[in-house]
Amino acid sequence: MNPHFNVASADGTGPQAQPLGVERWVDAAGQPMAHFDLVSMGDGYKLLFCYQHACPGCHTHGFPNLSRLVDALRGENIRFAVVQTVFEDWEENNYEAMLEDQRRYAVPVPFGHDPGNGAGTPGSVLMQRYGNRGTPWFILIDPEGTVLHSHFRIDVDKTIALIRRAGAAPAVAAAPEKMPNWGDVVRWANHGNPPPPRRVQKTEAEWRQLLTPDQYYVTREKGTEPAHSSAMCSLFEPGRYECVCCGTELFDSGAKYDSRSGWPSFTQPITEGVVAYNMDNSYGMRRIETVCQVCDAHLGHVFPDGPEPSGLRFCINALSLKKSK
Ligand code: FE
Repeated sequence: MNPHFNVASADGTGPQAQPLGVERWVDAAGQPMAHFDLVSMGDGYKLLFCYQHACPGCHTHGFPNLSRLVDALRGENIRFAVVQTVFEDWEENNYEAMLEDQRRYAVPVPFGHDPGNGAGTPGSVLMQRYGNRGTPWFILIDPEGTVLHSHFRIDVDKTIALIRRAGAAPAVAAAPEKMPNWGDVVRWANHGNPPPPRRVQKTEAEWRQLLTPDQYYVTREKGTEPAHSSAMCSLFEPGRYECVCCGTELFDSGAKYDSRSGWPSFTQPITEGVVAYNMDNSYGMRRIETVCQVCDAHLGHVFPDGPEPSGLRFCINALSLKKSK
């Protein structure tokens, strides 16, 4: 059925995918996860990229090919995961090196670390289960759990074509409007935001005059209001939410949802460019701060655990917002 893939036979039969057996995982944002396996990757296609930090080919063509696949297949019926399958160079291929690679390549997918029982053993459990012969190694699994491809290399263009063709089979609704996803957010936070529509700048004294002390603390001093402190969390009337400092419209009520987090939550801003994203390493956490790009007001943070289709949760202080009709 797929002659470009090396494992499945012509009638599409191939080995069944095994549980990954990888114990240490971080999510797309680099936060530790208690558990992750194929089941966590949903019902669609799955692509596993296996690598080692000290493997030159993993960096020269492994990660670049993975990035192309992840970028091209956004919104398609496929999920990705990266696993450091350690079988040599134990000192260098450690957990911290894996975290460094996730930050370096900004691939918005979960990363696992799989050293097996350590140096002097066969190493990676995943590798033994799937029969990988080294790194880099790509494994493609179809929605039925059949391994279609398992090899050092992958044909990126043919893989993209396969997944797009599979997704096009059922009737597809009108193309969704462009919506930022976690990959966009990470890229903007690391490499700079799209330009703002306009700029508003005031002195500290002018902001103090304009705002209540609570609003000033949150927006100008990066404060956080207490959870569940605002009725805005459970407000779902139609309308728009403006920046309390400069009046720029930031979020539409159509993107507001009940996250039960205790802060007003949205899946996307009104348009690209009104919200800016900054890396925030305060309080020992690695988070992405959201600010009004027009006046630099601190709004809150954005996380990759929101509902589809954006997958984003904009967790915003109610004190930073003003509802308009
Ligand atoms: Fe503003």
